[in-house]
Amino acid sequence: MSMQVKTLPPGLHRDTLAVRAGLPPSQWGENSEALFLTSGFVQPDAQTSAQRFANPQEGYTYARTSNPTVTSFEQRLAAMEGTEAAIATSTGMAAILLLGMGLLKAGDHVVCSRSVFGSTLNLFAKEFGKFGVESTFVSQTDLQEWKVAMRPNTRLLFAETPTNPLTEVCDIRALADIAHAGGALLTVDNCFCSPALQRPVDLGADLVMHSGTKYLDGQGRVMAGALCGSARLINEVFAPIVRTAGMTLAPFNAWVVLKGLETLGIRMQAQCANAMAVARFLESHPAVTRVYYPGLESHPQHALAMRQQSGKGGAVLSFDVRGADPQQLRANAFTVIDSAQVMSIATNLGDTKTIISHSATTSHGRLTEEQRQAAGIGQGLLRVAVGLEHIDDLKADLSRGLDKL
Ligand SMILES: *Cc1c(COP(=O)(O)O)cnc(C)c1O
Repeated sequence: MSMQVKTLPPGLHRDTLAVRAGLPPSQWGENSEALFLTSGFVQPDAQTSAQRFANPQEGYTYARTSNPTVTSFEQRLAAMEGTEAAIATSTGMAAILLLGMGLLKAGDHVVCSRSVFGSTLNLFAKEFGKFGVESTFVSQTDLQEWKVAMRPNTRLLFAETPTNPLTEVCDIRALADIAHAGGALLTVDNCFCSPALQRPVDLGADLVMHSGTKYLDGQGRVMAGALCGSARLINEVFAPIVRTAGMTLAPFNAWVVLKGLETLGIRMQAQCANAMAVARFLESHPAVTRVYYPGLESHPQHALAMRQQSGKGGAVLSFDVRGADPQQLRANAFTVIDSAQVMSIATNLGDTKTIISHSATTSHGRLTEEQRQAAGIGQGLLRVAVGLEHIDDLKADLSRGLDKL
């Protein structure tokens, strides 16, 4: 029995690719993509086996190298990001590890925003540092600092936009120009916006990095990561490293995220709308002194964010509660968290469930108070990763604590 396979016409919209891109169905014609829970693949004969081991693109051999469910996830994500190819990894951090292993060697230099995800900072500064790769950390928003940091041996610029938790936005096109003028590549961590809102490659970036754990899965179930880029970089530079070093994405996790991609567009639209409404509500509340959200006109990079992010602010925001000194600020922030009856107290984001967290004692808890001050993360700062609950219930949940202050 064999399936007549229809090929997709060219020029499909990304919403369509999010539902349709991937490998064709198996001979059984399943309409929902199959989950291939197999670590090995039976070869028809010794000659074919030899060819596939020599060139993995000719067929599946062993799941550390590749698996059809993982391939479908890679093809669908690449289609959505508008890149030729993508490669999946076990987590988002594994994708950055792969990036470094593929592009950097001892003596090379990296320029990275100071405001990137904490583990990303550690990976560049500490772990890659051990292997003789030096990194310079610069302002998220001051392009001059990026230019000044460039050296003849700079190979990679790494940016994340918007950032966690202050939602600072960097100019992807300008960073791509700085990278290319210096013969370096720009990689953008596109975790917060996802391809539903922002496509860094359209703005000149060379590679896009993802934590699939966040909006791509979108329901807080599994961990996953990916790099998206040219077929040459993905197939010739990164795929051989995954095969050797084994930061492979598990097929089950690939399947969960593959199905998550189908609803990414509508989830992002709905979560952005909720976040915008929460931001406006907070901006008008007397117990709130400042709201950080790119969708608000008061955000310093509002115009850039609207250009770069399909006119949306994303679904993560943060705000400062009122308070006279650090002690009172922290007490007030804790009151808001502990009064919430709907939101989860957790540090993940990109979930359908709204999550509230106190950055100074969680994601930024290992910094000294001076480092936190320099980063603008006060004791009164709360981050909300807005989910899909009804907006009235979210506002009421924040009011429970804010009205007590
Ligand atoms: C979570 C996150 C990562 C790391 O991803 P994991 O899947 O947790 O390894 C990297 N960058 C950003 C912006 C993140 O939010």
